[in-house]
Amino acid sequence: MSSLGSPLDRHEKIALSASGGKDSTACVYLLRDQLDRINVYHLDTGDLLPEMRESVARIEAMCPHFVRIETNVADWIGVHGLPTDLLPYTSHPVGRRMGQEKTPLVARYDCCWNNLMLPLFQRVHDDGCTLLIRGTKAVDMPRLPATDGDTAYGVELYYPLLDWTNEQVFAFLALKGVKLPRVYNYVVNSPECARCSAWWGEGRSTYLKKYHPELWAEYDARLQLVIDAVAPSLALLRHEAGVT
Ligand code: SF4
Repeated sequence: MSSLGSPLDRHEKIALSASGGKDSTACVYLLRDQLDRINVYHLDTGDLLPEMRESVARIEAMCPHFVRIETNVADWIGVHGLPTDLLPYTSHPVGRRMGQEKTPLVARYDCCWNNLMLPLFQRVHDDGCTLLIRGTKAVDMPRLPATDGDTAYGVELYYPLLDWTNEQVFAFLALKGVKLPRVYNYVVNSPECARCSAWWGEGRSTYLKKYHPELWAEYDARLQLVIDAVAPSLALLRHEAGVT
């Protein structure tokens, strides 16, 4: 791919965020001839699937300027609570102050922000990068909170896959002969954290149970804690709505 007229022409210090998933891997291959001038950042929360770790290692081997950022999501959860897709009022700071919470829970985006998004962006910013390339696509969510060309804290975002579909990404990687982690035989988007107790739509349970029973046991135990924590509020909601 030629960089002629691309955002890469306007920047000296360039970052690419690589999770090891299909989209960021596609970015790495798309920009392969530019990798000698790109810092490729990977954030490891300490809870990657083993096959995702292998995918990251393959990316690392391609990238002369590979930067690994490590956080510890298990420790963070131990302090702040399990992430959940349904947060009862008891887990709001006010509910906590009132002693209403039994199992500490946090909203999924609070956990992702603190363990994934912020540490990576902070490092990119601290390293003086002014362009951040990400594999985000318009089809990934109904509305992108930040998009291609936006600038925050002096860092411009560049989404080369903005208008791609998932099928195009898979086809592009197949064309390049890229070996994707086995998890992609089961899901369209790979999980960021194997034992995450939120992001229920990812459908991790079947996969973990089959290929990683020990991880599944921990994952399932976390889900049971979340179920127990949200059940009282759900029961009240159903009763109030007259749902039997
Ligand atoms: S994927 Fe789950 S465990 Fe990992 S940072 Fe996000 S909410 Fe937290």
